[in-house]
Amino acid sequence: MEFDVKKVRADFPILKQLIYNKPLVYFDNAATTQKPLSVIESISEYYKTINSNIHRGVHHLSILATNQYEETREITQKFINAKNKSEIIFTRGTTESINLIANTFAKRFINKNDEVVISTMEHHSNIVPWQMVCEEREAKLKVIPINESGEIIFEEFEKLLNEKTKIVAITHISNVLGTINPIKKIIEKAHSYNIPVLIDGAQSSAHMKVDVQELDCDFFCFSGHKMYGPTGIGVLYGKEKILDELPPYQGGGDMIDKVTFEKTTYNRIPLKFEAGTQNIADAIGLKAAIEYINKTGINNIFEYEDEILKYATGKMMEIEGMKIYGTAKNKTSVISFLIGNIKPDDAGEIIDKFGIAVRTGHHCAQPLMDWYKIPGTVRASFAFYNTKEEIDMLVRAIERVKVMFL
Ligand code: PLP
Repeated sequence: MEFDVKKVRADFPILKQLIYNKPLVYFDNAATTQKPLSVIESISEYYKTINSNIHRGVHHLSILATNQYEETREITQKFINAKNKSEIIFTRGTTESINLIANTFAKRFINKNDEVVISTMEHHSNIVPWQMVCEEREAKLKVIPINESGEIIFEEFEKLLNEKTKIVAITHISNVLGTINPIKKIIEKAHSYNIPVLIDGAQSSAHMKVDVQELDCDFFCFSGHKMYGPTGIGVLYGKEKILDELPPYQGGGDMIDKVTFEKTTYNRIPLKFEAGTQNIADAIGLKAAIEYINKTGINNIFEYEDEILKYATGKMMEIEGMKIYGTAKNKTSVISFLIGNIKPDDAGEIIDKFGIAVRTGHHCAQPLMDWYKIPGTVRASFAFYNTKEEIDMLVRAIERVKVMFL
């Protein structure tokens, strides 16, 4: 299929906006992506025509809403090639998915002196929940080192694994460096010690094909809003066998089988982990987002974004004083950089005046910033609606920043 960026851009109403009288250039896609009209309309259509609570109703609207909600589960299952529909649990996003696993897994499997392995390049969402449970269970957090390019050092990872390691939790793609981690190899190695692996897929689900069966990961977490869907909806994939063994996360409606004052028995997965009224409207929005990605073709997206990344990297490297953080051989969609000793916020504010949205700061990865001994970076993160012309605009804006601050 031919990829036509002009056609794609026409589907995203926000991109038609002017910012400071200049066309919006949106390079903050790692924080959240823009939404195509089909996603926006699917949510409004839900509220206009079938709004009602799911699972518990026998009336017409409730059945329609339940069907659409469950269709989202099915399309998500196919999207990541999960074996069963019941392995797809809806959450608020990656953060909640990781917290759910950290908490339930720790209760069941993590004890005093056990170890949890994460990496240096994790987002706070894949650090803090583990830190919290380690403190509670008197377990230890172990961190995989990286090299200067921002790649994990595999031999060092291997050295961290032992009989005390209870889980490995690692990001698929770094939101700061763009590094695509060799997760298949990591999973294989961890499994050779019988250690389950959680993959933080917040930055990968919108950019590359994910096949959880092929990867053989035990858990995979991602957020709707980073893949052209709404905020407030995310996914936790878990292998049925492990999810069955974990205790529920929250108590309430829908997650139960039978409640008496003496004892409660719980529902089967996935509902065991979906207590209370769910975010029905945004789940339906997520369905539209996945349909949009499927229609565009995830491989087309990957190839086009790779072209954009290579073009941007080439252009940025030509700028004197430019330092790019994250030069892994296998990377995608993100360029983090500093220009001389210009503070990231100062650069970001000037770039903004050109109508260009970039992110500045620590990107919720303070330990990674500490590792590089920098307070933060400027980050341009790309999506398939970005163009080479927009990259040229960013380069011109950076030249202006240099004139002002150097
Ligand atoms: N993990 C990574 C790698 C991220 O980039 C992010 C968000 O930027 C998260 C986790 C958290 O995602 P959310 O805020 O959607 O829960």
